[in-house]
Amino acid sequence: MSFFANVEQVPGDPILGLTEAYNADARPNKVNLGVGIYYDENGRIPLLRAVYQIEQQLALDAKPRGYLPIDGLAAYDQATQKLLFGEQSPLLEAGRVSTSQTIGGSGALRVGADLLIKLLDTRTVAISNPSWENHRAVFGAAGFDVVDYTYFDAARHGLDFEGMLADLRKLERGSVVLLHACCHNPTGADLTQEQWRVVAELLKERGLFPFVDIAYQGFDKGIEEDAYAIRLLAGMDMDFVVASSYSKSFSLYGERVGALSVVSADAKQAKAVQSQVKRIIRTIYSSPSTHGAALVAGVLNSPELRQTWEQELTEMRERIHALRAGLVGKLNALGAGDFSFIERQAGMFSYSGLSRAQVDRLRDEFAIYAVGTGRICVAALSQKNLDYVANAVATVAR
Ligand code: PMP
Repeated sequence: MSFFANVEQVPGDPILGLTEAYNADARPNKVNLGVGIYYDENGRIPLLRAVYQIEQQLALDAKPRGYLPIDGLAAYDQATQKLLFGEQSPLLEAGRVSTSQTIGGSGALRVGADLLIKLLDTRTVAISNPSWENHRAVFGAAGFDVVDYTYFDAARHGLDFEGMLADLRKLERGSVVLLHACCHNPTGADLTQEQWRVVAELLKERGLFPFVDIAYQGFDKGIEEDAYAIRLLAGMDMDFVVASSYSKSFSLYGERVGALSVVSADAKQAKAVQSQVKRIIRTIYSSPSTHGAALVAGVLNSPELRQTWEQELTEMRERIHALRAGLVGKLNALGAGDFSFIERQAGMFSYSGLSRAQVDRLRDEFAIYAVGTGRICVAALSQKNLDYVANAVATVAR
Protein backbone atom coordinates (compact mmCIF):
# COMPACT_ATOMS: atom_id res chain seq x y z
CA MET A 1 0.00 0.00 0.00
CA SER A 2 1.22 3.48 -0.78
CA PHE A 3 0.24 6.41 1.39
CA PHE A 4 1.21 8.95 -1.23
CA ALA A 5 -0.38 7.41 -4.30
CA ASN A 6 -2.85 10.26 -4.83
CA VAL A 7 -0.61 13.20 -4.00
CA GLU A 8 -0.89 16.00 -6.51
CA GLN A 9 2.15 17.70 -7.92
CA VAL A 10 2.32 21.36 -6.85
CA PRO A 11 3.28 23.65 -9.74
CA GLY A 12 6.85 24.97 -9.45
CA ASP A 13 7.73 28.59 -8.63
CA PRO A 14 7.63 30.48 -11.94
CA ILE A 15 10.61 32.67 -11.08
CA LEU A 16 12.78 29.69 -10.11
CA GLY A 17 11.65 27.98 -13.31
CA LEU A 18 12.92 30.99 -15.20
CA THR A 19 16.38 30.58 -13.71
CA GLU A 20 16.39 26.90 -14.68
CA ALA A 21 15.59 27.85 -18.27
CA TYR A 22 18.30 30.52 -18.15
CA ASN A 23 20.88 28.04 -16.83
CA ALA A 24 20.04 25.62 -19.63
CA ASP A 25 20.41 28.34 -22.31
CA ALA A 26 23.68 27.88 -24.22
CA ARG A 27 23.76 31.36 -25.81
CA PRO A 28 26.88 33.17 -24.52
CA ASN A 29 25.34 36.65 -24.27
CA LYS A 30 22.43 35.53 -22.07
CA VAL A 31 21.26 37.82 -19.23
CA ASN A 32 19.00 36.84 -16.33
CA LEU A 33 16.95 39.85 -15.24
CA GLY A 34 14.36 37.61 -13.59
CA VAL A 35 16.28 37.10 -10.35
CA GLY A 36 15.42 38.47 -6.90
CA ILE A 37 18.98 38.90 -5.73
CA TYR A 38 21.44 41.79 -5.81
CA TYR A 39 24.29 40.96 -8.16
CA ASP A 40 27.44 43.03 -8.38
CA GLU A 41 29.09 44.47 -11.47
CA ASN A 42 30.66 41.04 -12.19
CA GLY A 43 27.34 39.27 -11.99
CA ARG A 44 28.12 37.71 -8.62
CA ILE A 45 26.39 37.78 -5.25
CA PRO A 46 28.70 40.03 -3.24
CA LEU A 47 30.41 38.84 -0.06
CA LEU A 48 30.52 42.12 1.82
CA ARG A 49 33.92 43.14 3.24
CA ALA A 50 32.34 43.83 6.63
CA VAL A 51 30.86 40.33 6.66
CA TYR A 52 34.15 38.77 5.60
CA GLN A 53 36.01 40.60 8.34
CA ILE A 54 33.63 39.68 11.14
CA GLU A 55 33.68 36.10 9.92
CA GLN A 56 37.49 36.03 10.21
CA GLN A 57 37.31 37.50 13.71
CA LEU A 58 34.68 35.02 14.83
CA ALA A 59 36.67 32.12 13.39
CA LEU A 60 39.77 33.14 15.39
CA ASP A 61 37.69 33.27 18.55
CA ALA A 62 35.50 30.25 17.75
CA LYS A 63 32.83 29.54 20.32
CA PRO A 64 30.75 26.44 21.09
CA ARG A 65 27.31 26.40 19.44
CA GLY A 66 24.72 26.15 22.17
CA TYR A 67 21.09 26.96 21.46
CA LEU A 68 20.13 30.58 21.15
CA PRO A 69 17.15 31.78 23.16
CA ILE A 70 13.80 31.22 21.41
CA ASP A 71 13.74 34.84 20.27
CA GLY A 72 17.37 34.82 19.17
CA LEU A 73 20.60 36.61 19.92
CA ALA A 74 19.91 39.59 22.18
CA ALA A 75 22.65 41.73 20.60
CA TYR A 76 21.12 41.07 17.18
CA ASP A 77 17.59 41.89 18.31
CA GLN A 78 18.69 45.15 19.93
CA ALA A 79 20.77 46.26 16.96
CA THR A 80 17.85 45.45 14.65
CA GLN A 81 15.43 47.55 16.68
CA LYS A 82 17.76 50.52 16.50
CA LEU A 83 18.15 50.19 12.76
CA LEU A 84 14.39 50.04 12.24
CA PHE A 85 13.14 52.52 14.82
CA GLY A 86 16.18 54.80 15.13
CA GLU A 87 18.96 55.03 17.71
CA GLN A 88 17.05 57.51 19.84
CA SER A 89 13.58 56.00 19.49
CA PRO A 90 11.35 56.84 22.48
CA LEU A 91 9.49 53.56 21.85
CA LEU A 92 12.63 51.57 22.46
CA GLU A 93 13.35 53.54 25.58
CA ALA A 94 9.81 52.87 26.82
CA GLY A 95 10.20 49.13 26.14
CA ARG A 96 7.29 49.15 23.72
CA VAL A 97 8.99 47.14 20.98
CA SER A 98 9.73 43.44 21.27
CA THR A 99 12.02 42.04 18.59
CA SER A 100 12.68 38.38 17.81
CA GLN A 101 15.31 37.04 15.44
CA THR A 102 13.59 34.91 12.80
CA ILE A 103 14.47 32.59 9.92
CA GLY A 104 14.76 35.33 7.31
CA GLY A 105 12.16 37.96 6.51
CA SER A 106 9.91 35.11 5.37
CA GLY A 107 10.04 33.60 8.85
CA ALA A 108 9.17 36.98 10.34
CA LEU A 109 6.15 37.24 8.06
CA ARG A 110 4.94 33.78 9.03
CA VAL A 111 5.51 34.18 12.77
CA GLY A 112 3.84 37.61 12.58
CA ALA A 113 0.89 36.16 10.66
CA ASP A 114 0.53 33.32 13.17
CA LEU A 115 0.64 35.86 15.99
CA LEU A 116 -1.98 38.18 14.53
CA ILE A 117 -4.42 35.46 13.53
CA LYS A 118 -4.32 34.40 17.16
CA LEU A 119 -4.41 37.79 18.88
CA LEU A 120 -6.49 40.02 16.64
CA ASP A 121 -10.18 39.94 16.00
CA THR A 122 -9.88 39.58 12.22
CA ARG A 123 -9.06 37.05 9.53
CA THR A 124 -8.50 39.59 6.78
CA VAL A 125 -5.19 40.84 5.50
CA ALA A 126 -4.97 43.23 2.57
CA ILE A 127 -1.88 43.13 0.36
CA SER A 128 -0.95 45.40 -2.52
CA ASN A 129 -1.89 44.39 -6.06
CA PRO A 130 0.63 43.19 -7.07
CA SER A 131 2.82 42.13 -4.17
CA TRP A 132 5.67 39.74 -3.52
CA GLU A 133 4.01 36.42 -4.42
CA ASN A 134 4.87 34.76 -1.12
CA HIS A 135 2.82 37.30 0.87
CA ARG A 136 -0.40 35.72 -0.30
CA ALA A 137 0.87 32.21 0.37
CA VAL A 138 2.32 32.92 3.82
CA PHE A 139 -0.72 34.73 5.15
CA GLY A 140 -3.00 32.16 3.55
CA ALA A 141 -1.08 29.34 5.22
CA ALA A 142 -1.50 31.08 8.59
CA GLY A 143 -5.27 31.10 8.07
CA PHE A 144 -5.85 34.61 6.76
CA ASP A 145 -8.24 35.55 3.98
CA VAL A 146 -5.99 37.54 1.68
CA VAL A 147 -7.53 40.41 -0.26
CA ASP A 148 -5.89 42.96 -2.58
CA TYR A 149 -5.77 46.71 -2.46
CA THR A 150 -5.17 48.68 -5.63
CA TYR A 151 -1.55 49.73 -5.85
CA PHE A 152 -0.02 49.94 -9.30
CA ASP A 153 -1.23 51.89 -12.30
CA ALA A 154 0.24 50.14 -15.33
CA ALA A 155 -0.70 52.98 -17.70
CA ARG A 156 1.19 55.55 -15.64
CA HIS A 157 3.93 53.09 -14.57
CA GLY A 158 3.54 54.23 -10.99
CA LEU A 159 1.47 54.20 -7.87
CA ASP A 160 -2.32 54.48 -8.11
CA PHE A 161 -2.56 56.39 -4.87
CA GLU A 162 -6.23 57.33 -5.12
CA GLY A 163 -7.14 53.73 -5.88
CA MET A 164 -5.09 52.57 -2.92
CA LEU A 165 -6.81 54.96 -0.51
CA ALA A 166 -10.25 54.05 -1.83
CA ASP A 167 -9.61 50.34 -1.27
CA LEU A 168 -8.10 50.82 2.19
CA ARG A 169 -11.18 52.82 3.16
CA LYS A 170 -13.39 49.89 2.19
CA LEU A 171 -11.67 47.44 4.56
CA GLU A 172 -13.48 46.31 7.65
CA ARG A 173 -12.19 47.84 10.90
CA GLY A 174 -9.46 45.79 12.49
CA SER A 175 -8.21 44.28 9.23
CA VAL A 176 -4.47 43.85 8.78
CA VAL A 177 -2.82 45.88 5.99
CA LEU A 178 0.51 44.71 4.63
CA LEU A 179 2.74 47.59 3.54
CA HIS A 180 6.13 47.55 1.82
CA ALA A 181 8.21 50.14 3.69
CA CYS A 182 10.41 50.82 0.65
CA CYS A 183 11.58 49.38 -2.67
CA HIS A 184 8.25 47.76 -3.48
CA ASN A 185 8.63 44.22 -4.82
CA PRO A 186 7.76 43.70 -7.67
CA THR A 187 6.89 47.16 -9.04
CA GLY A 188 9.54 49.55 -7.68
CA ALA A 189 6.74 52.07 -7.05
CA ASP A 190 6.93 53.58 -3.56
CA LEU A 191 4.89 56.10 -1.62
CA THR A 192 6.28 59.60 -1.05
CA GLN A 193 6.62 60.77 2.54
CA GLU A 194 3.54 62.92 2.03
CA GLN A 195 1.59 59.89 0.82
CA TRP A 196 2.80 57.83 3.76
CA ARG A 197 1.39 60.44 6.11
CA VAL A 198 -1.99 60.23 4.42
CA VAL A 199 -1.99 56.43 4.57
CA ALA A 200 -0.88 56.35 8.21
CA GLU A 201 -3.69 58.76 9.18
CA LEU A 202 -6.19 56.66 7.28
CA LEU A 203 -5.03 53.45 8.97
CA LYS A 204 -5.32 55.05 12.37
CA GLU A 205 -8.68 56.63 11.71
CA ARG A 206 -10.14 53.44 10.25
CA GLY A 207 -8.73 51.18 12.98
CA LEU A 208 -6.63 49.13 10.56
CA PHE A 209 -3.58 47.20 11.73
CA PRO A 210 -0.29 47.93 9.89
CA PHE A 211 2.02 45.04 9.07
CA VAL A 212 5.18 46.56 7.62
CA ASP A 213 7.52 44.45 5.49
CA ILE A 214 11.00 45.94 5.08
CA ALA A 215 13.31 43.71 3.06
CA TYR A 216 15.40 46.37 1.30
CA GLN A 217 16.35 48.95 3.93
CA GLY A 218 19.15 51.09 2.50
CA PHE A 219 18.51 50.13 -1.13
CA ASP A 220 16.65 53.30 -2.14
CA LYS A 221 17.65 56.47 -0.30
CA GLY A 222 19.49 55.33 2.82
CA ILE A 223 19.11 53.43 6.07
CA GLU A 224 17.23 56.16 7.89
CA GLU A 225 15.21 57.45 4.94
CA ASP A 226 14.03 53.99 3.90
CA ALA A 227 12.64 53.41 7.40
CA TYR A 228 10.41 56.49 7.12
CA ALA A 229 7.13 54.54 7.25
CA ILE A 230 8.22 52.78 10.45
CA ARG A 231 9.35 56.00 12.11
CA LEU A 232 6.08 57.65 11.11
CA LEU A 233 3.84 54.89 12.51
CA ALA A 234 6.01 54.81 15.63
CA GLY A 235 5.11 58.42 16.29
CA MET A 236 1.36 57.85 15.96
CA ASP A 237 0.56 55.93 19.08
CA MET A 238 -0.49 52.79 17.23
CA ASP A 239 0.17 49.08 17.56
CA PHE A 240 1.85 47.51 14.53
CA VAL A 241 4.37 44.88 13.51
CA VAL A 242 7.47 44.95 11.32
CA ALA A 243 8.99 42.01 9.45
CA SER A 244 12.56 42.82 8.46
CA SER A 245 15.26 41.03 6.54
CA TYR A 246 19.03 41.38 6.14
CA SER A 247 19.12 39.02 3.16
CA LYS A 248 19.74 41.89 0.74
CA SER A 249 21.28 44.61 2.89
CA PHE A 250 23.98 42.24 4.18
CA SER A 251 23.96 39.97 1.14
CA LEU A 252 23.38 37.06 3.52
CA TYR A 253 20.56 35.29 1.69
CA GLY A 254 21.37 31.76 2.80
CA GLU A 255 22.01 32.67 6.42
CA ARG A 256 18.28 33.42 6.86
CA VAL A 257 18.61 36.56 8.95
CA GLY A 258 15.35 38.34 9.69
CA ALA A 259 13.38 39.69 12.62
CA LEU A 260 9.85 40.30 13.80
CA SER A 261 9.30 43.47 15.82
CA VAL A 262 5.99 44.07 17.55
CA VAL A 263 5.00 47.53 18.79
CA SER A 264 2.62 47.55 21.75
CA ALA A 265 1.13 50.36 23.83
CA ASP A 266 3.43 49.86 26.81
CA ALA A 267 6.21 47.66 28.18
CA LYS A 268 3.82 45.34 30.01
CA GLN A 269 1.86 44.56 26.86
CA ALA A 270 5.09 44.21 24.90
CA LYS A 271 6.25 41.53 27.34
CA ALA A 272 2.99 39.61 27.11
CA VAL A 273 3.02 39.78 23.31
CA GLN A 274 6.64 38.63 23.27
CA SER A 275 5.70 35.58 25.31
CA GLN A 276 3.13 34.74 22.62
CA VAL A 277 5.70 35.21 19.87
CA LYS A 278 8.05 32.87 21.70
CA ARG A 279 5.40 30.22 22.03
CA ILE A 280 4.78 30.35 18.28
CA ILE A 281 8.48 30.10 17.45
CA ARG A 282 8.94 27.28 19.96
CA THR A 283 6.33 25.18 18.19
CA ILE A 284 7.66 25.77 14.67
CA TYR A 285 11.46 25.63 14.92
CA SER A 286 12.23 26.09 18.62
CA SER A 287 14.98 28.66 18.18
CA PRO A 288 16.83 30.37 15.31
CA SER A 289 20.36 29.67 14.12
CA THR A 290 23.54 31.21 15.45
CA HIS A 291 25.87 32.10 12.62
CA GLY A 292 24.08 34.73 10.55
CA ALA A 293 22.89 36.60 13.61
CA ALA A 294 26.42 36.64 15.04
CA LEU A 295 27.67 38.15 11.77
CA VAL A 296 25.04 40.88 11.63
CA ALA A 297 25.30 41.74 15.33
CA GLY A 298 29.08 41.74 15.10
CA VAL A 299 29.04 44.21 12.23
CA LEU A 300 26.32 46.49 13.60
CA ASN A 301 27.89 46.64 17.05
CA SER A 302 31.42 47.40 15.87
CA PRO A 303 31.79 51.09 14.94
CA GLU A 304 34.49 50.26 12.41
CA LEU A 305 32.72 47.37 10.67
CA ARG A 306 29.47 49.22 10.73
CA GLN A 307 31.08 52.06 8.83
CA THR A 308 32.42 49.59 6.28
CA TRP A 309 28.97 48.04 5.91
CA GLU A 310 27.26 51.40 5.46
CA GLN A 311 29.81 52.25 2.81
CA GLU A 312 29.12 48.97 1.00
CA LEU A 313 25.37 49.46 1.26
CA THR A 314 25.85 52.91 -0.26
CA GLU A 315 27.87 51.38 -3.09
CA MET A 316 25.09 48.87 -3.83
CA ARG A 317 22.44 51.61 -3.73
CA GLU A 318 24.42 53.93 -5.97
CA ARG A 319 25.14 51.18 -8.45
CA ILE A 320 21.41 50.51 -8.78
CA HIS A 321 20.75 54.24 -9.32
CA ALA A 322 23.49 54.42 -11.95
CA LEU A 323 22.07 51.40 -13.78
CA ARG A 324 18.58 52.88 -13.79
CA ALA A 325 19.90 56.15 -15.18
CA GLY A 326 22.10 54.32 -17.67
CA LEU A 327 19.27 52.18 -18.99
CA VAL A 328 16.90 55.12 -19.34
CA GLY A 329 19.59 57.20 -21.05
CA LYS A 330 20.36 54.48 -23.58
CA LEU A 331 16.70 53.73 -24.29
CA ASN A 332 16.14 57.43 -24.84
CA ALA A 333 19.05 57.68 -27.23
CA LEU A 334 17.71 54.68 -29.15
CA GLY A 335 14.29 56.31 -29.48
CA ALA A 336 12.64 53.39 -27.68
CA GLY A 337 9.93 55.56 -26.15
CA ASP A 338 9.53 57.05 -22.71
CA PHE A 339 11.10 54.82 -20.07
CA SER A 340 11.88 57.68 -17.67
CA PHE A 341 9.67 56.02 -15.03
CA ILE A 342 12.41 53.43 -14.50
CA GLU A 343 14.48 56.16 -12.88
CA ARG A 344 11.64 57.16 -10.60
CA GLN A 345 11.16 53.62 -9.31
CA ALA A 346 12.99 52.50 -6.18
CA GLY A 347 15.07 49.52 -5.18
CA MET A 348 16.17 46.46 -7.07
CA PHE A 349 13.02 45.88 -9.09
CA SER A 350 11.27 47.62 -11.89
CA TYR A 351 7.98 46.94 -13.57
CA SER A 352 9.46 47.70 -16.96
CA GLY A 353 6.13 48.03 -18.73
CA LEU A 354 7.12 45.25 -21.14
CA SER A 355 4.25 43.00 -22.12
CA ARG A 356 4.26 39.23 -21.89
CA ALA A 357 4.83 39.04 -25.66
CA GLN A 358 7.77 41.45 -25.42
CA VAL A 359 9.25 39.46 -22.53
CA ASP A 360 8.94 36.31 -24.68
CA ARG A 361 10.71 38.02 -27.57
CA LEU A 362 13.53 39.16 -25.29
CA ARG A 363 14.06 35.54 -24.27
CA ASP A 364 13.66 33.95 -27.70
CA GLU A 365 15.60 36.47 -29.77
CA PHE A 366 18.11 37.88 -27.26
CA ALA A 367 18.47 35.30 -24.44
CA ILE A 368 17.38 37.99 -21.99
CA TYR A 369 15.18 36.57 -19.25
CA ALA A 370 12.60 38.68 -17.38
CA VAL A 371 9.52 37.75 -15.35
CA GLY A 372 6.34 37.42 -17.46
CA THR A 373 4.83 40.43 -15.67
CA GLY A 374 7.66 42.57 -17.05
CA ARG A 375 9.50 42.69 -13.72
CA ILE A 376 13.22 43.11 -14.14
CA CYS A 377 15.93 43.09 -11.48
CA VAL A 378 17.92 46.24 -12.11
CA ALA A 379 20.84 44.89 -10.04
CA ALA A 380 21.28 42.09 -12.60
CA LEU A 381 22.29 44.73 -15.15
CA SER A 382 25.91 45.81 -15.42
CA GLN A 383 27.93 48.28 -17.43
CA LYS A 384 28.93 45.25 -19.53
CA ASN A 385 25.44 44.12 -20.52
CA LEU A 386 23.66 47.48 -20.46
CA ASP A 387 24.14 48.27 -24.16
CA TYR A 388 23.05 44.80 -25.17
CA VAL A 389 19.94 44.89 -22.98
CA ALA A 390 19.01 48.45 -24.01
CA ASN A 391 19.29 47.55 -27.70
CA ALA A 392 17.17 44.45 -27.21
CA VAL A 393 14.51 46.30 -25.20
CA ALA A 394 14.42 49.06 -27.82
CA THR A 395 13.96 46.43 -30.53
CA VAL A 396 11.01 44.72 -28.85
CA ALA A 397 9.47 47.98 -27.63
CA ARG A 398 9.30 49.63 -31.04
N1 PMP B 1 9.55 40.59 1.72
C1 PMP B 1 9.83 40.97 0.48
C2 PMP B 1 9.10 42.12 -0.10
C3 PMP B 1 10.82 40.31 -0.25
O1 PMP B 1 11.09 40.70 -1.49
C4 PMP B 1 11.50 39.23 0.35
C5 PMP B 1 12.59 38.47 -0.35
N2 PMP B 1 12.53 38.34 -1.69
C6 PMP B 1 11.16 38.87 1.64
C7 PMP B 1 10.18 39.56 2.31
C8 PMP B 1 11.79 37.67 2.33
O2 PMP B 1 13.08 37.85 2.72
P1 PMP B 1 13.99 36.62 3.14
O3 PMP B 1 14.69 36.18 1.92
O4 PMP B 1 14.89 37.21 4.17
O5 PMP B 1 13.11 35.55 3.70
